[in-house]
Amino acid sequence: MKLLVTGGAGYIGSVVAAQLVEAGHQVTVLDDLSTGHADAVPAGARFVEGSVTEAADVLPGMDGVLHFAAKSLVGESVEKPGRYWAHNLGGTLALLDAMRSAEVGRIVFSSTAATYGEPERSPILETDPTRPANPYGASKLAVDTALSTFAGLYGLAAVSLRYFNVGGAYTGEDGRVYRERHTVETHLIPNVLAVALGGRDSVSVFGTDYPTSDGTCVRDYIHVADLARAHLLALDACSAGEHKIYNLGNGTGFSVQEVLSVCREVTGHEIPAVMCERRAGDPAVLVASAEKIQRELGWKPEHPSVRDIVADAWAALPR
Ligand code: UDP
Repeated sequence: MKLLVTGGAGYIGSVVAAQLVEAGHQVTVLDDLSTGHADAVPAGARFVEGSVTEAADVLPGMDGVLHFAAKSLVGESVEKPGRYWAHNLGGTLALLDAMRSAEVGRIVFSSTAATYGEPERSPILETDPTRPANPYGASKLAVDTALSTFAGLYGLAAVSLRYFNVGGAYTGEDGRVYRERHTVETHLIPNVLAVALGGRDSVSVFGTDYPTSDGTCVRDYIHVADLARAHLLALDACSAGEHKIYNLGNGTGFSVQEVLSVCREVTGHEIPAVMCERRAGDPAVLVASAEKIQRELGWKPEHPSVRDIVADAWAALPR
């Protein structure tokens, strides 16, 4: 297929673009490089530097879109909500209009567990209430809603994948390594590994009084290679007039302290941790039920262990 990958110079988008190229698709990456890196675009893909609002120029002749381009910092979304509505919802609406004009009827969208907010139960099912706790989650949920509307009204074939906590690195068939390298890093595993590498003195543990086994937050970690593979399955599962939503996690929770222990084991470094106040808006436990995607798309994780995720992230860091 001829496919457009928006945000394909970012962490997850670049891994999906690489897997699509490896599967024999013709891939064009559209990315404004606001947070992505031009050298993350896989060698076999065409690269167009530009924003999603310029997608009309590259859409004609495409069979589908994988849409990653977005602002994704929760804290920033609370400070500057307008930016999140404009980029994430406004940008996607412009993309959807351009897709209609160019008669491109298939989209796989990068949604998030943040659409659920504070869950009522664990693991979370796709049918559970969506009550996002911040503008980032709200803007992604608004896109999910728009996709449902466009599927019903215009026959769009859409799949939303709701990511839980993505980590690890991907080594392409050509040996190239794709890894997380955000300028502003908020995520747990890269922050912990930065300490092991010597770039920082200690890692902050946000909250030790949650109602969990050790008092720290519990999350469902998924390997970026497994996550990316689900996008190829989703592309094939797109069906005209339908908007399908799938959680994408492993269905197992690990606490911040447990992740820290795994990182200490894998790296052999002490990794000092400082216990801090809770971070605003963090639910105590976020664990996916991944039963639907396993049942309907036949997705199965190849790297379900946090150890693999941490080990691959660690091995990919430049020394
Ligand atoms: N966390 C932490 N220290 C950090 C970064 C994150 O204690 O430096 C915690 C955070 O509060 C959350 C978990 O680790 O409970 C995962 O956070 P991350 O930002 O990686 O992902 P999120 O769950 O927010 O999408």
